[in-house]
Amino acid sequence: MIILVVNAGSSSLKYQLIDMKDESVIAKGNCDRIGIDGHISHKAASGAVVEEDCAFPTHAEAFDRLVQALTTGEAAVISSMAEISAVGHRVVQGAETFKETTIATDEIIDKIDELRELAPVHNPGNAMALRACRKIMPDVPQVCVFDTAFHSTIPEKAFMFGFPYEDYEQYHVRKYGFHGTSHRFVTAKLQELMNRDLKDMKVVSCHLGNGSSITAVQNGRSIDTTMGFTPLDGVLMGTRCGAVDPSAVTYLGTKHGFDYAEMDAYMNKKSGLLGISGKSSDFRDITAASEAGDHRASLAKAMLVYDIKKDIGAYAAAMNGLDAVIFTGGIGENAPNCREEVCENMEFLGIQLDKEANDFKGELRKISTPDSKVEVWVIPTNEELLIARDTLAMVQK
Ligand code: ADP
Repeated sequence: MIILVVNAGSSSLKYQLIDMKDESVIAKGNCDRIGIDGHISHKAASGAVVEEDCAFPTHAEAFDRLVQALTTGEAAVISSMAEISAVGHRVVQGAETFKETTIATDEIIDKIDELRELAPVHNPGNAMALRACRKIMPDVPQVCVFDTAFHSTIPEKAFMFGFPYEDYEQYHVRKYGFHGTSHRFVTAKLQELMNRDLKDMKVVSCHLGNGSSITAVQNGRSIDTTMGFTPLDGVLMGTRCGAVDPSAVTYLGTKHGFDYAEMDAYMNKKSGLLGISGKSSDFRDITAASEAGDHRASLAKAMLVYDIKKDIGAYAAAMNGLDAVIFTGGIGENAPNCREEVCENMEFLGIQLDKEANDFKGELRKISTPDSKVEVWVIPTNEELLIARDTLAMVQK
């Protein structure tokens, strides 16, 4: 069975075609700059590629071009779209409406679109891609996998903010959490690796990329996570400030003369590693600058490490123990220095890092010592594969 996985952003449409027989990727690509001009990068497993500037006024034209790339020319991998059994879509915000993977109908897509108020950057693109896909492949099941769904098990005491209760009832302001597909993928993998049932485990999963979130997983369920109402909350990120005193936001907004939208952009795009270092949002650049003696880059790195450390400690307290810590995402998988600094002086919690084992990039590996009470693992994430597996399970039901 062949499954197409679609990850649509506001101006991009990433895709992977996966053969579920062996879970191999047959082709993948990205239709970029939708609504601006347009470009497709497509790569078949054979190595054949398509790189072309196109006109993508909307997601519909991007979807047409993706179909063309999959079915015609040198980098074609299927003879017609009829070979695709189902399409799995990543949807960012499911709020309290969608707590699990769901088959898309017109009504479901409308509801996803209605949730745009809670995720203005992501949900409109997800809805557009779903509509474009249903138009071209009306008889093929479309499945929605929500980033927020894994966190729907977070208890009320952890998801509520301290605003008046009516704001939750009327405006649905609460913690939703994100990166759920990634946290779910790596914790499921951990269960296999440790050969223990997740139902008896206390795990902290650290997804560290441009956007980062830490999640406490107890008995296989998310019980708390650092991202909140939006993906701005939590640890310091590439360009996002993470959690700050809310009064500093109103104070700074007034000082800079920003309106709400400008303040939002300031916190999302000008802050974080970039804002602190004044140099870059990229952890590689931050590490290089820090090693060259740049104080602000060292500070940015130290702030991120300190945030992660505190969250691991907080979640160990929330779960009354800790069995494993997972590192994943671009930084988690590839930055041994970040992992080492996070795990330093954590012996009191039972974390003992094996520095030699930790000295590598981008593979699956256990990096704690054999006698470490808490196992520490690097597990490369694969959100697309989890979406494909969920999609397969839904259509087989
Ligand atoms: P996104 O959140 O956009 O999916 P990624 O998960 O791809 O981001 O993570 C991007 C981050 O990973 C960047 O900060 C980048 O510097 C970092 N990263 C990627 N490769 C390396 C590497 N080899 N060493 C250190 N950091 C890396």
